[in-house]
Amino acid sequence: MSNSSRCSHCWVVKDKAEFYKRAASTTGVQNTCKECSNTYARKWSKANPGDRTRRAREYNYANREAVRIYAAKYHKDNYNSQRRGQTNDDHQ
Ligand SMILES: [Zn+2]
Repeated sequence: MSNSSRCSHCWVVKDKAEFYKRAASTTGVQNTCKECSNTYARKWSKANPGDRTRRAREYNYANREAVRIYAAKYHKDNYNSQRRGQTNDDHQ
């Protein structure tokens, strides 16, 4: 097994350390070198200013706060209903 791989983008033969790992690939690395991957990622995010990643992160952040509040409220309600349940004669 070779320690180098050719980038399918710039066609330069580089050490495998210059490629991001990909277990699913037969060579164990991606077929595009890190440099080209980074260039592509930069180009892509420039071409897509409202990109999914950023929006997802913003959504998750906002959502996490809402989830936290909801979870706290749910826990409180649930706790109270459990306590109420304990006061009922549910063993009859
Ligand atoms: Zn390359």
